[in-house]
Parts: sequence; C-alpha cells; structure tokens
Amino acid sequence: MEATTVATAVSVTAWMREASAAVAAEADHLTQLDSAIGDGDHGVNMTRGFEAVVEAVDGVEEPPGKQLILAGKTLVSKVGGASGPLWGTALRRAGRAVGGAEALDGGRLVDALAAGLAGVVELGAAEPGDKTMVDALGPAIEALRAALANGEPLDAAVAAAADAAEAGARATVPMQARKGRASYLGERSVGHQDPGATSTALILRALGRALVPAG
Ligand code: ADP
Ligand code: MG
Repeated sequence: MEATTVATAVSVTAWMREASAAVAAEADHLTQLDSAIGDGDHGVNMTRGFEAVVEAVDGVEEPPGKQLILAGKTLVSKVGGASGPLWGTALRRAGRAVGGAEALDGGRLVDALAAGLAGVVELGAAEPGDKTMVDALGPAIEALRAALANGEPLDAAVAAAADAAEAGARATVPMQARKGRASYLGERSVGHQDPGATSTALILRALGRALVPAG
C-alpha cells in the first residue's frame, strides 16, 4: 500500500488555477445570475480576472503571501466590475496577513481569509445579510476556524468551509440586496441567488483541490 501524504498547506498557484477553471466552467451560470439582478457581466469579469491571475502567478517562485498580493493586484487592475476590486482587495490583504511565511497552513489560511474579508467589508461596507459575497465568505471562514479548532485535518476543514460558502450563497436567495447594483432593484432582488456569493463558493471549493504537503 502506498503511503498517503497529508496535505497541510495551500498552494497559491494551484488555488488560482483551480479557481480560474471553476469560474470559467460556471461563467454562463454566473452571468445568468448577474443578468437577473445586475448587469450580466459577472461570469466574464471573474473568468477574465482569474485567467490574468493565473498568467501572473504562473512560474513565479515566491512565498505564498507574495503570490496572493500579486494575484490581488492583478484582479484590481484587470476587472472593471465591483468583483475585481473586492476580490483583489481580499487577496492582497490575505497576502499581507501571510507575510513572509513559507507555507500557507491551516492557521495562516484562517488569518488570511479573515484579513481578506475585513478588506472587503472596509471597501464595500456590506454587512451579513446584504446579499453579497460577504454572505458566502463569512460563514466559510467561521466553518474553517471551527473545524481546525476541533482538530480536523486541513482537507476536511476546507471542505467544511466550502460547504458553508455554498450554503451561504443559497441563503442569499430570499435576501433583499442592500449593496452593489442589485440593491437598485430593491424588493425585486428577492428570489435570486447573488452572483458574487456564488462565485465565492466556487473559489472556496477550489481551495480543496489546491492542498499540498507543507514545505
Ligand atoms: P458589477 O456589480 O460592478 O457588475 P460584478 O457583476 O462582477 O460587478 O459583481 C457583482 C457582485 O459583487 C455581487 O453579486 C456582490 O456579491 C458583489 N458586491 C457588489 N457590491 C458589493 C459590496 N459593496 N460589498 C461586497 N460585495 C459586493
Ligand atoms: Mg455585474
């Protein structure tokens, strides 16, 4: 029997590659969701943005914090819609939180995502329940933190985070949007799933396909 290697860290390049593939595969769905309560560009924004990120970080031999900062800067510069600056800020702040650490292990991942969420809230001022990406990212971080505190291995903790993000995205359906373009619709935004929360769940699910042994 082969020895199994336990994944204890996230590869940022693999995460960005998997996130890029996931948003590209779901681009039509994301655009459909954004057509219902926005301007129908979310699939294109995310696909174009993460393609540029993959190009930027590919082959760059830097510690994870620097790669995250590079990824964030790329999103900010390449994506015109709200999601570019928001996810860009999230990744930049995440990178700053990781600092010069050699490996993005579970504890650092929680801190990185929490710093990213804080950046999103600072920039966009969305509160939980406003029908935004915050409603997927917030529960994901809580689930990740709880699972790790419970002694669960990183792969299980990341899976729990992605489950929570998906549940959070589904929970945006009955919400009325209070931030972003969808808020212009007022009550008519009710009954639709938020595109940004949906893509956030895809990005969190992609984390689980980017786990590697540390060091
Ligand atoms: P735009 O709204 O500029 O067309 P996108 O369609 O790419 O940009 O992204 C829309 C998503 O951005 C929304 O579904 C929502 O999740 C997120 N969003 C918009 N405004 C905010 C905000 N103030 N805070 C957090 N997320 C936001
Ligand atoms: Mg849009």
